[in-house]
Parts: sequence; structure tokens; C-alpha cells
Amino acid sequence: MSETTRRKEDQALPAPNPDGNVWPRQSCPAFTPRSSAAEKTCWYCVYADFHLDKPRALDVGVCYYPKKQLKQGGTKE
Ligand code: SF4
Repeated sequence: MSETTRRKEDQALPAPNPDGNVWPRQSCPAFTPRSSAAEKTCWYCVYADFHLDKPRALDVGVCYYPKKQLKQGGTKE
């Protein structure tokens, strides 16, 4: 599989995308895993908000780097 066949939404970012959209399979050098991280992707990054604390997660999230997500991980169901 070559890089040219990958969707833009799956490609790595050269830097964080503060207050911008991020797709689940993207990543950047500032990736910081949340506790249940299984991959090094935005989906598992503490700075991303995919509404994981809501009934329905977002297909496209928002990167809040460098503002850390405080509420995520703090709620128990
Ligand atoms: S959510 Fe995390 S890995 Fe994704 S762009 Fe932002 S800082 Fe980088």
C-alpha cells in the first residue's frame, strides 16, 4: 500500500491542528495517549474530542491541543 492510495483523512499530520478537525486515523508528533489507547491515532489522543462522553461519537473530531481535555476520562458510567 502506497501513501498515494491513502485517503487524506487517514494521513499523518506534520503538527497538531488546534481547534481544527481531525479524523480518527490521523496522528501528529504531539500525540498523547489516553488511558485506553490501542493505537497512536487522534482517536486515542487526549487532545482530541470525538464526543466519546456523549451517546454518539463524532466521525470527525476536534483537536484541542494544547488545551488538555479535563472532562474526558473523569466520568464513569
Ligand atoms: S488530536 Fe492529538 S494526535 Fe491528533 S492532531 Fe491533535 S494533538 Fe495531534
